[in-house]
Amino acid sequence: MDIDKLMQVLENRNPGEREYLQAVHEVLVSIVGVYNENPHFQTAGIIERLIEPDRILTFKIPWMDDEGVVHTNRGFRVQFNNAIGPYKGGLRFHPSVNQSILKFLGFEQIFKNALTTLPMGGGKGGSDFQPKGKSNTEIMRFCQAFMLELWKIIGPEIDVPAGDIGVGTREIGYLFGMYKKLTNEFTGILTGKGLDWGGSLIRPEATGFGVVYFTKEMLNTRKEKIEGKRVAVSGFGNVAWGAATKLNQLGAKVVTLSGPDGYIYDEEGVSNEKIDFMLELRTSNEDIVEPYAHEFKNAQFIPDKHPWEVKCDIAIPCATENELDIDDANKLVKNGCICVCEGANMPCTPEAVEVLQNNRLLYCPGKAANAGGVATSGLEMTQNAMKLRWPKNEVDHRLHQIMESIHEVCRHHGQLPDGYIDYMRGANIAGFLKVANAMINQGVV
Ligand code: GLU
Repeated sequence: MDIDKLMQVLENRNPGEREYLQAVHEVLVSIVGVYNENPHFQTAGIIERLIEPDRILTFKIPWMDDEGVVHTNRGFRVQFNNAIGPYKGGLRFHPSVNQSILKFLGFEQIFKNALTTLPMGGGKGGSDFQPKGKSNTEIMRFCQAFMLELWKIIGPEIDVPAGDIGVGTREIGYLFGMYKKLTNEFTGILTGKGLDWGGSLIRPEATGFGVVYFTKEMLNTRKEKIEGKRVAVSGFGNVAWGAATKLNQLGAKVVTLSGPDGYIYDEEGVSNEKIDFMLELRTSNEDIVEPYAHEFKNAQFIPDKHPWEVKCDIAIPCATENELDIDDANKLVKNGCICVCEGANMPCTPEAVEVLQNNRLLYCPGKAANAGGVATSGLEMTQNAMKLRWPKNEVDHRLHQIMESIHEVCRHHGQLPDGYIDYMRGANIAGFLKVANAMINQGVV
């Protein structure tokens, strides 16, 4: 495989799709060795088939706000690969959403879902709709308008969307209601549902819990423990909430959280009570963290900055893609950080990853470390299919086991001759082998 040539062709066919090209390049670099050792991958054209989505639906979403003004947004669903199961992946509502971002997320999802051990293919969708500042009725009308197009291409054995940034239980509810109305069917076509109508216990906190279970496994390889560690967390959505809750439970101290307006530094630690306060803030639709520093006097608000400048043992970026760059990585190294575990999807830039790995920090990409969310979505699908609901400890136990097995497979494929574990390489190779072998078994389709 000639990576440069492949990337050149890809760039010509997908001009300007920066995030998507970045995600593909990262995978190609990891798998080039196994790919070249196995000529049957080349014969079956696996790479060319894997990097091209099966299909992308783009659609118009006209909707009316509370004042009667009509708006037109754009919606997408990228069905990337269904070699090992129905397309599966979240919906993101955020003004930054475009085809490149959804293709990058859909591509990552193929590998992430393969690592979970569950039968799920890769997909992603969303809209450039800005939920911030919208009323409840506006959100409902928008979700209904979105589903008026999406329902045609999803189904419990076809494609099962879920939440992501800007899409939580409330939005999943409105989307589900419209699907049910259109088809007259009550089926598990979405995950992240409300607990009373098909949702799974632990699903909202699963991504964050999973990241911490994974961090624990990584630390274990160096005979380190989570207990007593200082942790810098970014974001204050579901992932940050779940991670901070589990970190507190395991005796670590969370010293930061962040929003688009800056970050909070709390030397006393972000206790569960403070996490609840943040959750309240989030529902106010303002999407900012500054009020935390007014409420808890010993905390500081640092405007317009990322938390990677504080002294910490562990960093868990849970906000968004490319939020931790090379300067941040250098600061983390200088301050003695030993582990960076990604809660968000691709939050570290490629240059930052290089710095972390060259300095032999424990580093794991989101596609492995944050797979607990979609894994628990898989468990929600299983419960829906069986028409029953598992208790909390059963779901949590299965999630824990899945994270341990993801760690093991990444370690297996990522261990370098000097003993360092390249989790990026491990995750990409393990995910790739599973999907590529399934594609070969199923012929050229
Ligand atoms: N959006 C989440 C992710 O990035 C969850 C997807 C799902 O549950 O299908 O993995």
